[in-house]
Amino acid sequence: MINFDSYNFVGKRAIIRVDFNVPLDKSFNVTDDTRIRAAIPTIKKILSEGGSAILMSHLGRPKDGPEEKFSLKHIISTLKKHLGIDILFAPDCIGRDAFYMASRLKPGQVLLLENLRFYKEETKGDEGFAQKLSTLADVYVNDAFGTAHRAHASTTIIAKFFPKNKMFGFLIENELKGLNKVLHNPQKPYTAILGGAKVSTKITIIENLLDKVDNLIIGGGMMFTFIKAQGGKIGKSMVEEDKIDMALDIIAKAKQQGVNIYLPIDAVIADEFSNDANTKIVDANSIPAEWLGLDIGPKSVAHFAKTIEDSKTILWNGPMGVFEMPKFAEGTMGVAKSMSVATKKGAFSLVGGGDSVAAINKLGLANEVSYVSTGGGALLEYLEHGNLPGINAIRE
Ligand code: AMP
Repeated sequence: MINFDSYNFVGKRAIIRVDFNVPLDKSFNVTDDTRIRAAIPTIKKILSEGGSAILMSHLGRPKDGPEEKFSLKHIISTLKKHLGIDILFAPDCIGRDAFYMASRLKPGQVLLLENLRFYKEETKGDEGFAQKLSTLADVYVNDAFGTAHRAHASTTIIAKFFPKNKMFGFLIENELKGLNKVLHNPQKPYTAILGGAKVSTKITIIENLLDKVDNLIIGGGMMFTFIKAQGGKIGKSMVEEDKIDMALDIIAKAKQQGVNIYLPIDAVIADEFSNDANTKIVDANSIPAEWLGLDIGPKSVAHFAKTIEDSKTILWNGPMGVFEMPKFAEGTMGVAKSMSVATKKGAFSLVGGGDSVAAINKLGLANEVSYVSTGGGALLEYLEHGNLPGINAIRE
């Protein structure tokens, strides 16, 4: 496999699959440029060596062909600000104009293509469409981890047209380095912290992790399925009745494999799903009938902290409570702080998967952990299966 860092891009046109699927406000200003910033090192390395870059991405979910609000032209000024050079824009990602503009690119220049998803062939993984994209460049670089779980034309299929000139960019390389640390030969003790809404979406991950971790901490909405499974009273808390057997199964498997499962001791409960609700802290196993658990309590935070802070490898996915409401964010904050303490003591800590990243950013603790993954669904799938279509396409 080609190593991006040691590849020499002089005189090469590289087509880079980036993830510029950024949020825009009503006037089409970029409101969070994290994903654009994340792509800059890869682009700069190519340009600095005398290569040129053709950037392709999707933006939003256009239904049927081009839609003004999903045009990638809205991100040009942000991209220009971060790269410090003018950006050329092709108003169609394939076709005569794109080909002409790409063929005239000079070393050091950047060409941004219009939204790939203006063609339904993109998400269908159409080979003809991928082939047309491939004619624009000499080299294919995939740097969009967030879409690597999709076998789309630009994320996976296109790779076959660059059998000797395909590689990951810095972003995906870093993601894989981080993920390998938690999936292969992690330093022990190894603790996984899982939260979020539902057990059902995380079962395969939990099963996969049981072979690897020493401790499994469970919080968030899914804790109540486990608590109920063990005979606890959970009031009106979120529960998946049809997953109760599975929860018992996970507990049994963990015991068999010598994995310690930690469930919350106490919970912050509320009389309604609102930040204005009345709240109490009670034993997590005895929530009154009309109340619902919306966060883990302070005893649980302290209990989890010991385990987290003594760990050498920590993987965290999913908030401990409804962190979007300040009254129920303490548990998530507590776990994030413990991760920060462990990281300072030399642990490798990885946070990933949609809401946990939003949570750690909101709490301002993103710089306190070793790695924050850019992949939501992609990260979860990688944790489940250990590979992804877009990753395999480069490795093959
Ligand atoms: P997920 O996407 O599965 O990681 O779930 C994240 C969502 O779970 C967040 O929006 C949280 O508000 C929600 N969540 C966490 N804890 C609870 C809870 N106790 N009850 C209801 N929702 C929760």
